[in-house]
Amino acid sequence: MDVMMTRPIKLYNTRTRAVELLKPLEEGKVGIYSCGPTVYNYAHIGNLRAYVFVDTLKRALQWCGYQTNHIMNITDVGHLTDDASDGEDKMELAAKKSGRDIWDLSRYYTSIFFEHTGDLGIQPPNTVCRATDHITQQIEMVQTIHDNGFAYQIDDGIYLDTSKLPKYADFAKLSIDGQQAGARVDVVQGKKSPTDFAIWKFAKGAKRLMEWESPWGRGFPGWHLECSAMSCNYLGERFDIHTGGIDHIPVHHTNEIAQMMAYTKSDEWVNVWMHNNFLVLEQDGEDTKMAKSGANFVTLDSIRSWGIQPLAYRYLLLNTHYRKETRFSRANVEDAAKGLAKLWKKVSQLCEEAGSDKGNLNSPTLEAYRKEVTGGITDDLNTARCLAEVWKIVQDESVSAADKVAFIADTDRVLGLRLTQGPIGGGDGASVDEAKMQKLIQKRNQARTDKDFSTADTIRDALDAVGVRLKDSPEGTTWES
Ligand code: AMP
Ligand code: ZN
Repeated sequence: MDVMMTRPIKLYNTRTRAVELLKPLEEGKVGIYSCGPTVYNYAHIGNLRAYVFVDTLKRALQWCGYQTNHIMNITDVGHLTDDASDGEDKMELAAKKSGRDIWDLSRYYTSIFFEHTGDLGIQPPNTVCRATDHITQQIEMVQTIHDNGFAYQIDDGIYLDTSKLPKYADFAKLSIDGQQAGARVDVVQGKKSPTDFAIWKFAKGAKRLMEWESPWGRGFPGWHLECSAMSCNYLGERFDIHTGGIDHIPVHHTNEIAQMMAYTKSDEWVNVWMHNNFLVLEQDGEDTKMAKSGANFVTLDSIRSWGIQPLAYRYLLLNTHYRKETRFSRANVEDAAKGLAKLWKKVSQLCEEAGSDKGNLNSPTLEAYRKEVTGGITDDLNTARCLAEVWKIVQDESVSAADKVAFIADTDRVLGLRLTQGPIGGGDGASVDEAKMQKLIQKRNQARTDKDFSTADTIRDALDAVGVRLKDSPEGTTWES
């Protein structure tokens, strides 16, 4: 599609709290930065919701004719357990607990992350950047923020002085009263205000596994800094869209914005901020956010071990708007798997019926459907509306099989559900098969070799729950159901 032929698209902007028409900085092109995973553990399916969301956004923009340039970071250092500026570094803690090399740990979880996103039909970003590969850029940013007069040094590190930024609380609409503004109880000696946060932390006492020389002594960057430094490095001092989960609004994104205001001395940075809502699980009668530190932790492998195609989870997500909370349960994803398997079957029958006829996307019989889908996609990514149209056309006897297939294939460019190809590896996509089982057995064996017994047990228990029993013998592991 030619640059001039882009379709207008409306997106919800957290910054203005309104659905707005997207106005890219450069015509026909959209630069996107996404906060990526912290690779000290497996991404749970709540985390993966954030990446299904950004993938849907990218696909929708591409469908509208825009060229997307997507940058995503990998947080492999300095993400503190407290999320503000205190606590231990999650990577260091995980390495100490598992007794594994910290760099191996980060490589391992990064590779599993991309395996899972691939299984969910998520297109890889144009650039994936690791925090530890951009220490120089982060040090330069600290230097400039300091030179601009927005930082101060204390025993613990270099802190951003939020009192010098009158608009600090605007983004999250925080109340600065008391200590409620992106920071918990102030435990850092010398911090001037509870909202101030470390942009560079000093490595004190015992040598850390990850630390670097800086003009202020050995240390490591504050977590929020990596996203400001890397987005700036790859997309410049102004760009179109920044994404993340809603939990990032009050602390991480508020602090990223503060850093950029201090660095550029301007409050023009990102045009559109977009956030996905949470995936929640019912626990003790209450809906709780799925969290890496919590007990309610489900991974894509858990879903796979229930005999369910990963794309069924994508289908489940696309049935709810990204700004609404999604409730996850095994029953929900099983229903989604049944729905998707049925759709795959119907579309496969249509493909057979259409034969070599490619259909006509501009056929008058498709007009109302195309209008509805365009409305859905361009109205802040209403994927549920698009899915409803797909189901409707499947049943519509007035449309030819070939035109139906043409329409479904075009809509699937946004949905990413392989509607005209069917499940990866064939089959009905809803039953346990040998290839999936072998993959899980391999993962469990690897976990056992790594002495990661909790993962090994999770895989075995999850399989057990669906009636699949693993049998270990000196010759290896086999399964029966
Ligand atoms: P992390 O790996 O913890 O840095 O998180 C990666 C992404 O997942 C971030 O954009 C978070 O906002 C998002 N996220 C974390 N928990 C959930 C959840 N339960 N539901 C949806 N998104 C989440
Ligand atoms: Zn970030």
